[in-house]
Order: sequence, then structure tokens, then C-alpha cells
Amino acid sequence: MVQKNIEDFINEINGSIGKNKIITDDLILKLYSKEPSGLVGKISAVIFPENKDDISKILSSAYKYEVNIYPQGSSSSLSGNAVPLKDGVIVSFERMNRIKEVNTTDNIAIVEPGIRIDELNLFLEKSNYMFPIDPASQSVATIGGAINNGAGGLKGAKYGTMKDWVNGMEIALPDENGTRLFLGCMTVKCRKGYDLARLIIGSEGTLALVTEAVLRITPIPESIVTSLALFDNLDDLLDSFIEMKTSGIQPYIAEFMDNKTVEIASKGIDINFDANGNMLLLSIDTTKESSERMKKYLENLFKKHNANKIITSLNQQEAEELGLFKIRRNLFAAQVSMGYSLYGNGKKLQVFIEDIVVPPSKIKLAINKVREVSENYGLPVTIGGHIGDGNIHPSVVYDITDENMKNKVVSWYKDVMKIALDLNGSISAEHGIGLLKKDGLIMEMNHYNSLKEINIMKSIKSLFDPKGILNPGKVL
Ligand SMILES: Cc1cc2nc3c(=O)[nH]c(=O)nc-3n(C[C@H](O)[C@H](O)[C@H](O)COP(=O)(O)OP(=O)(O)OC[C@H]3O[C@@H](n4cnc5c(N)ncnc54)[C@H](O)[C@@H]3O)c2cc1C
Repeated sequence: MVQKNIEDFINEINGSIGKNKIITDDLILKLYSKEPSGLVGKISAVIFPENKDDISKILSSAYKYEVNIYPQGSSSSLSGNAVPLKDGVIVSFERMNRIKEVNTTDNIAIVEPGIRIDELNLFLEKSNYMFPIDPASQSVATIGGAINNGAGGLKGAKYGTMKDWVNGMEIALPDENGTRLFLGCMTVKCRKGYDLARLIIGSEGTLALVTEAVLRITPIPESIVTSLALFDNLDDLLDSFIEMKTSGIQPYIAEFMDNKTVEIASKGIDINFDANGNMLLLSIDTTKESSERMKKYLENLFKKHNANKIITSLNQQEAEELGLFKIRRNLFAAQVSMGYSLYGNGKKLQVFIEDIVVPPSKIKLAINKVREVSENYGLPVTIGGHIGDGNIHPSVVYDITDENMKNKVVSWYKDVMKIALDLNGSISAEHGIGLLKKDGLIMEMNHYNSLKEINIMKSIKSLFDPKGILNPGKVL
């Protein structure tokens, strides 16, 4: 049954923004109430604002009736960031997906939050530009979701994360009027007191709704050499990566998958080579004149470290034709199907993807320790990730109805987070805290003797959202 305050809220916004922007059909609500991690929530309506005024009206009524608001891009989060926890309504940004301006002299794109990263890049490609933050989910991930998750991606080694690529943004607050503010600046260089724009990045929809963003864009590199190398011995792979980094080469993409991950992700895809062993997928951006030289450098490096297979392309088109990215792209689907083959169809599965990060110099230690710990648990763990920036994703798929297995997984992921903290790392690089990592956040604050940070964060939350109606229960 819909609570009285939610019913009154829906009636009010029916009048203020229009009926065709609200859905209360049960089947549709179910579709919007879940995440790929397997987490499911419950809501009373999905609202589809079409402009900033709609957003202010929704927030103003939500404030009046104290209705929980769950902002949503594509709900591709993995830590429970977007899933509705208590009753309330989802505000979906899918109808606010326009590109408002692109200026290649100023290196900016001004966009609405619902635009998908892939769509934005297709548009920018026409001017030979790109937005370089490319989560593996970029075909669905929206700019609003990526800002609020502080997302990173395959090019993270070179370009960092969302916090490095947003100059400014407009937000709407959950107050009497749904007040809108412009945070940050239009320019890269900017000193405007405390940096509130960066406070919103990674805030997981708990502080304000992002209604527009001023993004930095950059030219597409002239030439990109890509090499896929497979190694029988994991240490050989890691040594080749460290040697490359030490020699001063900053990879454009540096992705790693252990042998178990390669085995499951290479099944059922159309590739023309045998994929056996631990995989390193490296791209280097360079000039046309230097690409042959870079290709030789990579091939010699991998041979020196005993790679059993090396396939190299001189440009992105050739990399696509050779299928060099296919194994990486199939990863998530492969983890889900591994779950069904292990536990049987019809089971309630959860894919738990760890997201630890360590300084790249500690990556070899971290991966070996995670392997050692995981073997002791006997869980179906696969390890891969963006090793260029020290971010690894040890993952496990399990049946959530099996309490014994669930307890084991919880204990495993605590051990994995501890490994990262002991190596001067962090418990989450890009997926965020959501619901699943709240205890990890406390663990990290404790580790760095910084528990008071939580109190400061709680005070900030209540300044932005005094009634606690924005994505309640997340992060803190
Ligand atoms: C297969 C797979 C691969 C992935 N790979 C990566 C990866 O490589 N790197 C990475 O960083 N992540 C990755 N992710 C996680 C996720 O896809 C990204 O974080 C993505 O950027 C989320 O975008 P979204 O539009 O789906 O956001 P959602 O999941 O809908 O939302 C994310 C958060 O932002 C909030 N939010 C959304 N829009 C707004 C808004 N306009 N205003 C305020 N709050 C808002 C939500 O409430 C939520 O807390 C992956 C996920 C999957 C399933």
C-alpha cells in the first residue's frame, strides 16, 4: 500500500509537472528497482523529469511531504548506490539527455545528466574529441551517475577519474524551492572558495541532484598501439607491467585478468586465438611515426617476460578486427554465467565485485596476497582490473540464499579490503560505498585513524539535505 505522504506528493507533482512523467505500474517499478549486483529494492513511482524546472518542483514537493528520492541514471552501480532501500520514488534522468554545447577551443561540453557516456563520445568523435572517462559500462552509464559515483574506467591510468574531468555543474537542493546552484566553474583553472563541485563528485546522490554538467574534453590521440599478451606465470605479467611503468611509459589502457578470469570470459566469444593464461591488455597513445617503434617495444618487453602469446595492433580499427578487447568486454556476463553453471539456473545470484586500489608500485604484492587469501576460502574468485592505476576487482559470484556461503563471502571481502589498507590503498577506487561497502568505509577511517571524518560527512549531509530524503541509507 502506498503511504499517505507519497500519495499526496504524487498528486501534487501530477499537477505541477504533468501526468505523463510519472509511472506507478508495478512491473515497471520492479524493472527500475534493481542493480546488476543482484540487489533489489521497492518504490512507489518512477518520475521522469524533462527539464530543470521539473526537478526543482519534484524536490520542493518531496521536501514538503518528506518523500524519499532515489536519483537514477541507468542503475548500473555495483555497491547498492542506486537501489531504493526504503519506500519512496525514483527520479530517472533518462529524458534529460541533451548535449547543450561543445566548445573545442575551451575544451568543454555542457550536457544534461542523463546522457550516456558512449552517446556523448559518438557525438564528440565528429570533432576528433573525447570525454576520456570510460567505465566498462559506458554503453549504459550516464554522466549524472558517473559524476555521483566518482567513476573511473579503462583509461584511468592516463586520465584519472570523474573528479579530474568536471569543471562545474548545476545542482538542485532538496529544500522548499528545489533551489538550483552553479558549483565550480566553466574553466579548468578556478578558485571559488571551498570546492563544492568536487564534494558532489562521488556523493552517490545523497547531497543534491545534478541537473547539468560542464565537462572537460580532450582530443582523441593520433595513434593507439594495443597489445594483448598472455602469460603462464602471473609474476612475469606483473614484472613486465612494472618494467614498462618504471621506464617512463604511461599507458593509455592497462587491463589485467588472471587465468581463471580469462578462461571464463573467453568462452563463447568469437576470437581467432587460443586464450590461455593471465592476460595483460595494454594500449599506448603515440604518433603515427612512432607507432611501429612502440609496437616493437611492447613485443620485446613481453617476450623478455616469457609471454606465451602476443598479439599487437597498430591502431584501434585493427585492435577491433583482431578482437583484442572482446575478452575484457565479456567479463561481467561471464561471471554471471559462471554463477549459473556452478549453482544451477533459477538461483538468486549476487556478483560481488571488490574495488580495491593500491599504489601501482604495490600491485604485485596486492594481487598475490588476494590470491593467497582467496585460495583459503575455496570460493569461485576471479581477479582482474585496471592495473594501470592500481585498481583491482577481485570478484565472487554466490547464491544469496545460502547463508553459509554468504558469511564466507563477507569474511573474504573484509580480508581483501584489509590487504588494500595495509598497502596504503583504499577500499573503493570507483564503484563507491552504496550499501555494500559501508562497513568498509568505517574500516578505512579506523585504519587511517580518521573516524572523525564520518562526523564531518554527516554534518555536510544534513546541511545539503536537512530532512535526509536524498538516497537515504547510502554511504554513511
Ligand atoms: C559490467 C559493469 C562494468 C562496470 N565497470 C565500471 C568501471 O570500469 N568503472 C566504474 O567506475 N564503474 C563501473 N561500473 C559501475 C557503474 O556502471 C558506473 O559507476 C556508472 O558510472 C554508473 O552510471 P549509471 O548511470 O548507471 O548510474 P546509477 O547507477 O544510476 O547511479 C549512480 C549513483 O549516482 C546517483 N545519481 C545518478 N544520477 C544522478 C543525478 N543526476 N544527480 C544526483 N545523483 C545521481 C544514484 O543515486 C547513484 O547513487 C560497472 C558496472 C557494470 C555493471
